[in-house]
Amino acid sequence: MTNKTEIKRIFNLQSKASNVLSLRNSSYKERVEKIKSIRTFISNDANHKKIADALYKDLKKSNEEVISTEITPTLLNIKQVLKNLKQWMKDEHVPSPLTMVGTSSYIKYESKGNILLISPWNYPIFLSLYPLIYAIASGNSVILKPSEISTHSSKVIKNIIQTLFKENEVAVIEGSVEESTELLKLPFNHIHFTGSPRVGKIVMEAAAKNLSGITLELGGKSPVIVDGTGNIKNIAQKIAWAKTLNCGQTCIAPDFALLKKENLQDFITHFKNSVAQFYNVSNQGIEKSSDYGRIVDDINFKRIDAILKDAVKKGAKIETGGEINSKEKFMSPTLLSNVSQDMLVMQEEIFGPILPVITFENNSDVIELFQKMPSPLAIYIMSSNKKNIKYFMDNTVSGGVCINELMLTVVNPNLPFGGVNNSGIGKSGGKHSFNDFSNEKGVVKKNFGNFLKLVYPPFKKSIFKYFKHIVKI
Ligand code: NAD
Repeated sequence: MTNKTEIKRIFNLQSKASNVLSLRNSSYKERVEKIKSIRTFISNDANHKKIADALYKDLKKSNEEVISTEITPTLLNIKQVLKNLKQWMKDEHVPSPLTMVGTSSYIKYESKGNILLISPWNYPIFLSLYPLIYAIASGNSVILKPSEISTHSSKVIKNIIQTLFKENEVAVIEGSVEESTELLKLPFNHIHFTGSPRVGKIVMEAAAKNLSGITLELGGKSPVIVDGTGNIKNIAQKIAWAKTLNCGQTCIAPDFALLKKENLQDFITHFKNSVAQFYNVSNQGIEKSSDYGRIVDDINFKRIDAILKDAVKKGAKIETGGEINSKEKFMSPTLLSNVSQDMLVMQEEIFGPILPVITFENNSDVIELFQKMPSPLAIYIMSSNKKNIKYFMDNTVSGGVCINELMLTVVNPNLPFGGVNNSGIGKSGGKHSFNDFSNEKGVVKKNFGNFLKLVYPPFKKSIFKYFKHIVKI
């Protein structure tokens, strides 16, 4: 944990004008070298083991999940930066209207300056390094505050940063609410926050005091719509995978499912079978599976357990799962039917391995339900009917949409990733992140003539007539 004086010292060091300018004017080569050093560090076998050990201690993540959901996406984003940064850093020339004859215009991408990154615990390595890579690529200094809940991963992050960077470039402040609150008082140029909508509001309020720029990558209830025109077995398998990856603690996991009434029984059977095929291959019980994670801490375990108990008390039926071992923070993949809107499971982001299923008759029922809920991070449409897909796309608002697949919106760095209002503000990934961490400075340069003189007083009516004429064209 870091005390107030230390936080101030690091901020002052990073925000010194000479430091900001030297990072802002750093070359493509210098930025690339820093990013490559992260790649070399995390690709090293011994360091990979340290990362995997930490994630096992924090979330019981298997090494395979560490590779697929922490290391690979980080390396993919590094690849994206290395491939494109030279182009992104270039001045971008834009056309000029006729009223600006004799001038040229371009956008100069310059660093915002001092960036604060606050990251969550669910993918603690990826969600710390992912924004960091882009903040460095844009020529900024960074203070990174990882989550106090994934303590082992936070220590690894601190070690990576201390090994690779000078404090004036990137520093890690470990800590919880107290440290975050101190950091949020400082006049950062931009704050990039990944976490819950509840804390997102606190961050936005604090940012307003300094008019800092903000990006909020939040959560919410991302639904999956199954309209019955696709293969229910394949769909149930996809949903079972997405809902149980990292024990359901994924911001873009399908939070709840909407199914046609007539597909419910089939769906339940295939969901159950898929869970067994994933995590109970040797018939020793899911708790014994080395591929199934755990709830991160007791507070979150109690929260999810209370959501489940509330649903059952109000009439939900556990179709499969429901086994818990509170000492081990284990909850088996749980499918609930007979779910209603008054249950907590339909009011809060679940962020655990429970899938409530709601049945619908007409497509318009789905839209009616969504209109009562905040816009989610993602909507998943499982359908082979083009008309239905278009209907659901055109009548809903969400950060992203995945058709006949789940959770892939975050994987493609060419797509903007992020939410809408309650699920987030601003977009990340590839060029979107580079722009987010940059000030897009509009520059106009005079090349020839002095045509602006024509509008100086005393006014000549003919010139203004000409204006009227050219804006009509
Ligand atoms: P959280 O909001 O509780 O915490 C996130 C960070 O904020 C942590 O570093 C924490 O220390 C800090 N924090 C907590 N309380 C604070 C306060 N009062 N003031 C200032 N800082 C504070 O979120 P979490 O539990 O770590 O993560 C789960 C949430 O994050 C879920 O809602 C999930 O959907 C969301 N999430 C979103 C994305 C995304 O990319 N959109 C990715 C992962 C997680």
